[in-house]
Amino acid sequence: MGGDLEEAIYFVSSRLMKTFQEIGLQTNFSRNDLVTLLLAEGEERQQLFQRAQSVKQEAVGSKVYFRGLVEFSNICSKDCLYCGIRKSNEKVIRYDLTDDEILESCRFAWENRFGSVVLQSGENASPTFVNRVNLLLRKIKEISNGELGITLSCGEQSLETYRRWRETGAHRYLLRIESSNPELYRKIHPDNDLHSFARRLQALADLKTAGYQVGTGVMIGLPFQTPDDLASDLLFLKQMDVDMVGMGPYIEHEDTPLYEFRSLLKTKQERFDLALKMVATLRLLMPDINIAAATALQAIDPAGREKALTVGANILMPNLTPCDYRKEYQLYEDKPCLDEDAELCRNCLEARIELAGCEIGYNEWGDSKHYLRKI
Ligand code: SAM
Ligand code: SF4
Repeated sequence: MGGDLEEAIYFVSSRLMKTFQEIGLQTNFSRNDLVTLLLAEGEERQQLFQRAQSVKQEAVGSKVYFRGLVEFSNICSKDCLYCGIRKSNEKVIRYDLTDDEILESCRFAWENRFGSVVLQSGENASPTFVNRVNLLLRKIKEISNGELGITLSCGEQSLETYRRWRETGAHRYLLRIESSNPELYRKIHPDNDLHSFARRLQALADLKTAGYQVGTGVMIGLPFQTPDDLASDLLFLKQMDVDMVGMGPYIEHEDTPLYEFRSLLKTKQERFDLALKMVATLRLLMPDINIAAATALQAIDPAGREKALTVGANILMPNLTPCDYRKEYQLYEDKPCLDEDAELCRNCLEARIELAGCEIGYNEWGDSKHYLRKI
């Protein structure tokens, strides 16, 4: 109780000492500063968004880089309590795209000058899966003359596997920490070794050791999550010195255990707004990293990803998964299941991105400037 009071007094007094504008202009941020930014409303919220946009412009410019997303398998050995394709969801029809289907999507990306693809799947550490991904990496490099950049997002694997895939050609890896608060992490995962927070942290460390550009991120608006948790998530990203971040709103799925706690959730619009503020605040905290405009934003607002591009994001992941499979990769309700043409129609996508004040970095890998500076 005493601690809470002290914290509240510190929060109020530190807020009184600095104006919102002064906080936004800083380059170092305390947890309280970050909470202040995340709670911004009205005029202050606009100030935050404008400041994030000018920091982005200065640090990484106005280019948006494409990563064509191929959700190549929904077979998963894990049971994360929030995820629609969790192992125990028997309503999901499991699929594995064929090599040809995957390569066709990658060829499309290359021919349309996307620069990079992301191969994403459920978690599977079997030797067959590991070998298959390795072979796919080799073939993607072959069909694109080595030009397509490759990001993987295939969950926790051994250091040896990460190294092998890195050597074959993957150079970026996305593995969200989901929440940096170990207690909250435990609430949204089964309590067993397969879903251990420590193991997740180790996997992120292994990815660095294996030489990837490492991306992580969190879900925003989870049940039980507080603004303080989100501020700590931002500090975690900074402390981990990550190169890329993908984070978006948590969206419930009725066939998952976490659905039981839906009455604790903010409205979807509030979660959307909080996610935009997280993107903007992160841009102030880590000016030169890559920040993705998450697909989950689009599930709440059709222009959600473009809105994220105007407040700090610089990466877009157009979905290249063949349409027939998309409904079986429903991580959350209302996940956009656009037909390929609507999503990719060159002119519409270009026009939407231009409207967001950005230009497309065609044929570029668009590696994280933060990473390039480090090496
Ligand atoms: N299996 C790999 C993993 O977990 O890292 C990659 C695929 S997994 C489907 C990709 C991301 O989807 C997860 O990191 C998680 O943040 C996100 N996700 C899953 N269920 C979600 C939900 N209900 N709302 C928002 N994001 C969700
Ligand atoms: Fe599997 Fe990833 Fe979903 Fe967890 S979040 S159940 S690991 S696909």
